[in-house]
Parts: sequence; C-alpha cells; structure tokens
Amino acid sequence: MNPLLEIFSQGEELVTGQIVDTNAAWLSQQVVACGFIVTRHTAVGDNMSELVSLLLEIAQRADCCICTGGLGPTSDDLTALAVAEAFGCPLIFDGLAYEQIARFFANRHREMPESNRKQAMLPQGAQRIDNYWGTAPGFSLKHGRCWFVFLPGVPMEMKHLFQEQVLPLLPERFSLRPGVLITFKTFGLGESALQELISVIEIPSSVQLGFRAGTDDVHLKLLFPFDFPKQDMIALIDDFSELLGDFVFAIDGLGSAVGDFVFEVDKKMTARNCTLAVIETISHGLLAAKCIGCNWLISTNYQQSSINLDAGVDFMVIAESMAHEHQKNSAADYVLVQLYAGDKECLHNKEKSIHIYTVLLTDTGLHRASHSIAGPIQRKQNQAALLALDLLRRYLNVTL
Ligand code: ATP
Ligand code: MG
Repeated sequence: MNPLLEIFSQGEELVTGQIVDTNAAWLSQQVVACGFIVTRHTAVGDNMSELVSLLLEIAQRADCCICTGGLGPTSDDLTALAVAEAFGCPLIFDGLAYEQIARFFANRHREMPESNRKQAMLPQGAQRIDNYWGTAPGFSLKHGRCWFVFLPGVPMEMKHLFQEQVLPLLPERFSLRPGVLITFKTFGLGESALQELISVIEIPSSVQLGFRAGTDDVHLKLLFPFDFPKQDMIALIDDFSELLGDFVFAIDGLGSAVGDFVFEVDKKMTARNCTLAVIETISHGLLAAKCIGCNWLISTNYQQSSINLDAGVDFMVIAESMAHEHQKNSAADYVLVQLYAGDKECLHNKEKSIHIYTVLLTDTGLHRASHSIAGPIQRKQNQAALLALDLLRRYLNVTL
C-alpha cells in the first residue's frame, strides 16, 4: 500500500480563520501526485500541549508528516519546542544554521535581532533543511513510524524548500507508486446533473471518482491506482468521453497540456486563424475581458441593456438580424451577439432568472443558443459570457 501522509499546519491565525490554509492544499496536491495517501489535514493554534499531543499521535499513525509554520523567532512560534518536548530531543544550537541566519541579515544590511538566534536551535538528531529564501531553516526527523518534515509557514519559502530540498528525498525514503489522475473539464452541466449522466457507467471500486465545481466549470476526476490495467483505463475514459460528449472542453492527464475554458477556445480559434466581433449586453464587457490577449477577438461592442422590446417580440430573430447587420460593417469572420430578456429587478434579484439569447454568425450560417440563468448578478454575467464563448467552442468542435 502507498504510504500514509498527514499535513499539519501551525498558527493561531489559521484556527481563528484570519488566514486560509493554502499551504495544506498546495502540499496535498504535490504529495498525492507523488503517490502518497493523504489521510488528514490538521491545524493547531499556538498551544504547546495541543502541539505535543498531535505530534505524538501522528508518529503512531502516519508514515510521513509535513508540518508548516511556527518556525519563526517570536514567542508564538512553538514548533521546535513542541518537537523537543514530544519526542524527548532537546534543542541544540546549530552553528551553521546560525551563520545562515546571520548572513541573511548581513546581506540586507540589517542588524540581526537577538530573538533570531532561537531559529538556530534545532531538535537533537534532526536534519537541517537550509532556507535560502528566508530566515528560519526547516528540519526533518524520524519518530515512531513517521518521518516528520518541518517547513516555514510563509508560502513562498515553504514551496521553494519543499520542491528543492524535500521532494528529492522522498523516493529514497518511501516506495512511491503514483496513480493516474484524469480530469474531465466540463462546461454546461452542474455537479449533480453530471453525476446523474454518468450513473450508467460502472466504475471499479479501486477507481476514485470526484467532482469539483468552480465558478467557470465543473471538473470530474478519476483517480486510477498505479497498477490499474492500462487497457481498462482507456476503455473507461472512452466511456466517460462518449457519455459526456460536448460538455467536455478538455481532458487533463492524458499527456498534452490543457488549460482553462478560454485557453481551449483560444487554441481552437488560433488554429483556425479566424477572427471574431462581439456584441454583448448582459455580460457587460466580461466576455471580452475573459479573452484578454486573444488576438482573434478584434472588436467588442457593448450595449447598455437589452433593447427595449415589446412583449411578444422574438429576441432570437432580433439577435440574428443584429449579427447580419454587424457583419456588414465588421472585418471579422464571425460575429457573436448576445441579448437578454429581463428587467433590472430580474438582474439584481438572485431568485429571479433572466433569459439570454446568443447567436453566432459564421461562414456556415447562424448558430443559436438560449438559456435561463438565475442567481446573483455576478453569476448571471459570468454565465452569459461563458455561454456565448461556449457556443463558439461547440461550433469550432464540430467543424474543426
Ligand atoms: P515567520 O518567520 O514568518 O514567523 P513561521 O515559519 O513561523 O515564519 P508562521 O509565523 O506560522 O511561519 O507564518 C508566517 C506567515 O505565513 C503567516 O502570517 C501567514 O501569512 C503565512 N502562513 C503561515 N501558515 C500558512 C498556511 N498554512 N497557509 C497559508 N499561509 C500561511
Ligand atoms: Mg511565525
């Protein structure tokens, strides 16, 4: 079985909610990719007895633990002291660590405060992890079944130290067999609709299925164990691809680099060497903003609101004639027009929905989509921008 790993974050700011534990999230991604099974994330404040008991527990139940934070010079930085107490290894002055800390200050022409000497005190038997990015060195040591790694809390320092000094040591210490993570990046269906759609597929129990809903897209993830037969993996990916169809805009994990939604549209438009002109209403320039740096978007025309239309008027027909009209005066190959039905009250009331009409005019004719969107106004605008780009993406998918 793959080794078990825990992540342990130290700091009062974390448990009181003043900062979010991004270290744990980042580290988890790194170690899962290496083949570890991450069993827990724990955050502990500046409390000695909590720290000591957690260290002792982890030493019994995990093979590896990465701890961040609490290595600084101030009195609330308790990690090294807690390690000394928990594992009975007194803190010992490390001359080299002291020299490095002193050099850090000298290089910046700053006087070294006496309190920084504390950072050169490492638990007996620990291996120092040199920190060229800040003052506090990290350290590692084994206790019980667990190899502990202690890194500074500042994210930039922590990341450098992990990548440069911890990552290379992992294969020597653990037998790591990373699994294969396949991510289907989808647009147009919510998590539950996706789940329902794929419910007809039988997923082997060794394959982990997961979902992640973001503001722009929903990811469906399949994590295959390292020894899962390749043929069966490809067959399962094919089944998913077929079922999810055009809702998938990219599949991550198959080798070639994929990116976010706009990145994928950009790749297709660039390959086709075509240009686009846009008239947007509800998305209010957001469509153009999302496409920053995409040279194929040659013009964007924002209209204050959906035109004042009498009841019973067909919005789609209006959008179509606007597209034809716009094409006459535009050098663009394609024209994308967005209109919406709904008043100011509908826009601002998150319980109410608006109806949007999107038309794409290309050399092969008109392509249409219409959707109802509810939720806060920011969501309505974002979805409208993405749905318009999605009409373009689907068109390019079929014809490329
Ligand atoms: P320092 O020398 O700065 O005291 P340290 O190793 O003691 O380093 P902390 O004091 O715990 O680290 O954290 C320093 C800063 O790093 C915090 O104020 C916070 O901004 C950031 N930080 C610490 N832990 C985390 C974490 N788990 N996730 C995100 N940011 C963190
Ligand atoms: Mg600190």
